[in-house]
Amino acid sequence: MSRRKPYNEYAGYVCSRRNQINGGWVVIYKAEEAGLDPAGGPWVAVCETHKTVCNTASLPKARPFLKIPEFCEECMSQYAGKTEQLKGGPNHA
Ligand SMILES: [Zn+2]
Repeated sequence: MSRRKPYNEYAGYVCSRRNQINGGWVVIYKAEEAGLDPAGGPWVAVCETHKTVCNTASLPKARPFLKIPEFCEECMSQYAGKTEQLKGGPNHA
């Protein structure tokens, strides 16, 4: 049995969601409470799939990353491929 929110017991946890690109978890933490570097901003979005992090200055700025983790190059390269599929790919032209 898998828990729906596997990260919610972590220190500094704020919220989490599966991203739309590969279904991986993206989690927002409070940087200091989670033991992450707060230098870039007090909130941190983490792509748990690829272990990439992105500091933001405010929580509203971090929230869109839950759906689409734009800071994660791995996810975004997958996203580019997926967008082409959705448009119908090469056959569409
Ligand atoms: Zn990623």
